Amino acid sequence: MQAQPVHILRKASQVHQHPEHQHIDEYDDIVKLLKEHGRDASDETLHVVAYVADACMGSNHLWQDMQLPNRQALSDLMLYYFPTLAAKNTGDMKWKKFFYKQLCEREDIFICKSPSCGECVDYQQCFGNED
Ligand code: SF4
Repeated sequence: MQAQPVHILRKASQVHQHPEHQHIDEYDDIVKLLKEHGRDASDETLHVVAYVADACMGSNHLWQDMQLPNRQALSDLMLYYFPTLAAKNTGDMKWKKFFYKQLCEREDIFICKSPSCGECVDYQQCFGNED
């Protein structure tokens, strides 16, 4: 089992949810998605759910809006707190894109421009570097 990302927890406990985000539909959808895949229903996990969902409303890469050092730290957090969801991201898709793709697939909404990521013109947007 991976070590618990304690530094992430400290950050999460300091984050206050932006009240305006709680009224955005997609915010609720992301919260629901994360909760369904949470490692447990503890306050700690629910705190991280809110932290991730809140940062998803930002305009930068998710790891940046979560004030993490890099994308790998976000991947570690996902693996620890949302193991079943992380396991679905087999292609190492950018996390925010990955969340939205999950939500779209649930609703049978197909925003992808190609049936295959490898041939898609948006490939770099979904999978490229996040430096
Ligand atoms: S690369 Fe294209 S097909 Fe793959 S998830 Fe992104 S938009 Fe969809």
